[in-house]
Amino acid sequence: MDLCTKSLKSLPIWIQLPDLDLNYWGLESLSKVSSTLGIPLKTDKYTQEKSKIRYARVLVDMQLDGHFPEFIEFFNEHDILISQQVHYEWVPVKCKFCGTYGHVEDVCKKKTITRKEWRVKQPLQVMGQENTPQHIHDKAASPQPAINQMLLRKKLWDDLASIKPFKGP
Ligand SMILES: [Zn+2]
Repeated sequence: MDLCTKSLKSLPIWIQLPDLDLNYWGLESLSKVSSTLGIPLKTDKYTQEKSKIRYARVLVDMQLDGHFPEFIEFFNEHDILISQQVHYEWVPVKCKFCGTYGHVEDVCKKKTITRKEWRVKQPLQVMGQENTPQHIHDKAASPQPAINQMLLRKKLWDDLASIKPFKGP
């Protein structure tokens, strides 16, 4: 199953409601309680039989881009707000980079693509650096005339030095 596909918006996830008051273990109550998380699909036989009363178990179709709250709140029949802890038997890993589920940031394809895009810029920078040697080369070409100029100047000085002081008549 490819969780990266954008079409996958929700996924059935088993939730556990620890220490849920046995008053709410009926299908209708369980459905109401768990509907704050998503669409309640089914429960297991242990919950139905109340044979394992440590927690009630419900399969909820949950939005993958939604929240996975640790607590859910609901009003009981006496209008008292009940805060119920939720355990998720499985929560899809969420990529911190692209925000989708099913993979972690380290293996994010979008990040790899971005990295590639970023790397494409690298050769541009390298090319820029490759241009630099050309500039250097251009500059390297200039010392030649500079040397010539120096030689010229030296020759001029030599010439000047060789000029005998002008003696007036
Ligand atoms: Zn990602």
